Amino acid sequence: MQPSEKALVPFVSVDNMMRLIHHVGVEQMITQIAAQIETDFKRWESFDKTPRIPAHSPHGVIELMPTSDGEAYGFKYVNGHPKNTSEGLQTVTAFGLLADVYTGYPTLLTEMTMLTALRTAATSALVGSYLAPKSATTMAMIGNGAQSEFQCLAFKAMCGINTVRLYDTDPNATEKCAANLQGKGLRVIACKTPEDAIEGAHIITTCTADKKYATILTDNMVGPGVHINAIGGDCPGKTELHRDILLRSDIFVEYPEQTRIEGEIQALEADHPVTEMWEVMTGKAKGRTDDRQITLFDSVGFAIEDFSALRYIKRAIDGTDFFEPLDMLADPDDPRDLFGMLMRAG
Ligand code: NAD
Repeated sequence: MQPSEKALVPFVSVDNMMRLIHHVGVEQMITQIAAQIETDFKRWESFDKTPRIPAHSPHGVIELMPTSDGEAYGFKYVNGHPKNTSEGLQTVTAFGLLADVYTGYPTLLTEMTMLTALRTAATSALVGSYLAPKSATTMAMIGNGAQSEFQCLAFKAMCGINTVRLYDTDPNATEKCAANLQGKGLRVIACKTPEDAIEGAHIITTCTADKKYATILTDNMVGPGVHINAIGGDCPGKTELHRDILLRSDIFVEYPEQTRIEGEIQALEADHPVTEMWEVMTGKAKGRTDDRQITLFDSVGFAIEDFSALRYIKRAIDGTDFFEPLDMLADPDDPRDLFGMLMRAG
């Protein structure tokens, strides 16, 4: 029996996502997703918002990240398992779904492991374009795992970075990252210590994975005027920066209700002042105000960024063959005759 046309859901597999990314270009796609995120952050108040819903275990975390603008609804399923790489598995994998609020029918199902790397890099560089020093040319990239190349290319495309200084506790990760960035228009310097990596950097990105209160950066390592893009501290009990750095920085966040649970600021008092990025983007709040200010983007990843990425993909695949129609909704001709549909299939 043929499923009805209206019940078929476009599905973007990992393979098709990679084809689409190659078709558009990595930097172009990051830039385009960033534009969609910026548009959606500027209409922040039209979204339903909630901190993501985590299921913690000693092994890692599995999270659901839902939001809606009243017309479309989206969610992402994502895990965070820092121990996975030692078993040959990814720390972060994800898939996501978009639905029509009017009918409740899904309108897109897609892989989101690749897409999360793109949207995270897009968000970081978008925020960087508001907060980083305008003359920034050099970024320290600490943590050279799955997200790292995407981060480097995003800051090149959107913030004018021409040099990246790489550091990872695992030299193999640095070697992999440096090799992947060859020929991508960046000067790449592999460093042996985090101190060496941040030497002369105008932007410091920390993107490490460890389920603990880590101190990737200590206070004496951070000079005036830098922008810190802290990606890896995104779970209760999982942070990257020494508390003293937070106290010297102006802190910018996505959604405070979630960041206070998961971000670097879990180390601070609950009422420590932070600025929401949507307010900076709409001009309600100030971003960087002087050359010596340390700006810190305490990134945890918020559902609206995934919603933006999902809507971008839905548009991008329209009229292409970068998806397969998926028969995932039972949709009988007579809506109340679900049982009849089952019997006819027998
Ligand atoms: P990954 O496991 O592929 O890479 C992490 C790297 O960090 C590894 O190479 C590891 O050797 C290195 N590392 C661990 N401790 C270190 C230390 N003390 N100093 C230097 N390097 C160290 O993980 P990934 O997929 O690249 O993700 C990195 C982090 O970013 C994870 O914690 C993940 O949860 C987080 N993340 C955040 C967002 C967001 O929106 N904020 C999105 C995606 C991933």
